[in-house]
Amino acid sequence: MMYNSPWLGSPGRSRNMIKIALAYFALMSMLVRGQPPGAPPAKPDSDAVKVLIAKAKKIGGTEWSEETHFFCEAPRPNSPTDPPIEPTKIFDNVYVIGNQGTVVYVIQTSAGLLMIDALAANQVDTQLLPGFQKLGLDPANVKIILVGHGHADHFGGAPHMQEHYGSKVYISAADWNMMENPPPGGKKGPPAVLPKHDQVVTEGEPVVLGDLKVMPVAIPGHTPGSMGYIFPVKDNDKTRMAAIYAGTILTPGPISDAGLQTYLKSVAHFKEETKKAKVDVELQNHPLMDPIQSKLDRLKSRQPGQPNPFVVGQANYQKFLEVMSTCTEVNIERRK
Ligand SMILES: [Zn+2]
Ligand SMILES: [Zn+2]
Repeated sequence: MMYNSPWLGSPGRSRNMIKIALAYFALMSMLVRGQPPGAPPAKPDSDAVKVLIAKAKKIGGTEWSEETHFFCEAPRPNSPTDPPIEPTKIFDNVYVIGNQGTVVYVIQTSAGLLMIDALAANQVDTQLLPGFQKLGLDPANVKIILVGHGHADHFGGAPHMQEHYGSKVYISAADWNMMENPPPGGKKGPPAVLPKHDQVVTEGEPVVLGDLKVMPVAIPGHTPGSMGYIFPVKDNDKTRMAAIYAGTILTPGPISDAGLQTYLKSVAHFKEETKKAKVDVELQNHPLMDPIQSKLDRLKSRQPGQPNPFVVGQANYQKFLEVMSTCTEVNIERRK
């Protein structure tokens, strides 16, 4: 295809273009591995790594093949250009708003709305509030915002909600601390506007709003205070148990060795807690490893009696976490 391309004019020009293309692919393959440009190129996978990838693929099967490929072979970060999704009611009491890379969940309770995450500050007017309007929900009813972890793509929209609607923001103590005392040499650019310090969310202390009880689980790794949340949802009046691992490491590159080890323990801990709670619904705040758009499409054309695409079953939910954990072992092994 490249040979017929109109921009390959003179031979000299085409050599340059090929050089540029090669440099581009080298850069992209480094970015895919989560390495910053300028880092040494990734070495080829060792046999030990290949064995672990094969193990992950076996666990994941066809149900989680995209997830296995994403975590073990082709991770990528969320991007401001991820296309918006159509705001959708996915359960009797749960709505999703956002884009294909990052979403928030809005849960209807008997005492108002609880929202998990808040998108980025610059997505409030373009995605968050238009989503509420499209769904016929009043953002002024958001009583609680549970933030998964203290990065601005999750809490950025929270100050607006606090200021205009009095929503209370809940974040773990460790991540409040990380946000309020950012480590030196962190992200470049102007600092994110922080929500004012409302509430601390802690494992073992359920967050209750009306008839909804959310169980927080501490899952440090991506950040010191990343949290997972377990809560009941209703699908055509049938109660299901949903979980969101709200501190997923998308690209392992920037995470320290110790961070990856902590993460591995956290996935194991979340696996235990979700098994105890009989979780059978899989939700993500960065649904990149398990694309959300196809689920929303299936939901749209769902006929009576057909399953809800977000309900994966208890055994499959556990497999989802096993793939996450095995691919983390892959990333640890790759550093040896
Ligand atoms: Zn993050
Ligand atoms: Zn994020």
